Amino acid sequence: MSLQRTGKQLLKRVLISSGGLTAATRVASPAAVVLMYHSITEDPALTEWSIGVSQPRAAFEAHIRAIARRFNPVSIDDVCDFASGRRQLPKKSVAVTFDDGFADNHDVALPILTRYSVPATFYLLTGAMERGKPPWYCRIRFAFGMTRLLQWTESGVVYDIATDTSRAAALNAAFGIGASKTGEVQDTWVRQVETALEVEPLTPGFMMTWEQAQSLKRAGHTIGAHTVSHPNLAHVSAAEARSEIRDSKIAIEKELGEPVQHFSYPHPALNPEWTPATIEITRAAGFRSAVVTSSGPVRPGDSLLELRRIYGASDFDQWLWNLECTFLGRAIR
Ligand SMILES: [Zn+2]
Repeated sequence: MSLQRTGKQLLKRVLISSGGLTAATRVASPAAVVLMYHSITEDPALTEWSIGVSQPRAAFEAHIRAIARRFNPVSIDDVCDFASGRRQLPKKSVAVTFDDGFADNHDVALPILTRYSVPATFYLLTGAMERGKPPWYCRIRFAFGMTRLLQWTESGVVYDIATDTSRAAALNAAFGIGASKTGEVQDTWVRQVETALEVEPLTPGFMMTWEQAQSLKRAGHTIGAHTVSHPNLAHVSAAEARSEIRDSKIAIEKELGEPVQHFSYPHPALNPEWTPATIEITRAAGFRSAVVTSSGPVRPGDSLLELRRIYGASDFDQWLWNLECTFLGRAIR
């Protein structure tokens, strides 16, 4: 670790523990923060499918404990009411959200949320739940991680995957290709990549069941939608975007027996992950709100269909720093 980096971390710790940031937050304009999580596992290093989306249980528990004691936990509906000017929220209001619908949200995160009485929203990827298969980007990451080959050929283009650097670049290219595919076409393409890389498909069983989703709902949490097959909605046809958004809502409503009002735009690769057209489709499908992956606070007057979030970094000091900076309206560093 460089001296400069150590010094920065020390400064962050001093500012956080001295209450300097808290004092600054008191005078900042009203804001709420929506936190984004994906998978919570005992030890992410043991689950190769989840690299990049899993966080350790202990780190997550430290976050939730801090939210319960030092912040004001709220639901996504509270955030919507705040953004639309229908109500004020206490200072330092924080909403917790999960994307994709991994089974560990129920098995690992739910007991922690219950212990500290923190509400959360779970945006479910209905195609993955119904097939029992992890999201396509996990399957692709797994295939690139496990292959013993030195090259990958896609549509006549040969990608070198012999070194960590070249493999990471090829994986990035694969994410870009997959992000514009949906449904059966996407599934067929993922299986082609697995075959081309000579890798056994990632075994199913990581996604939440409908019974588990019911149990989250019964515990008082909010269930939202996250499309059927996790494309980047800004990079598929309007017809595909419509069916991905609408069909995920219908599937959850059928299983849970209540209206689904909240949506999360998937962001597997490519930018942006939403456009004015995507927003209109989401609004027309009947959603009250939609969250994005761009960092920032939620303030009164913000569009409910473009609510910003911040990533729940595992390192506690970094997480707290990000949260406090976001309340202040500062960019996260
Ligand atoms: Zn997602």
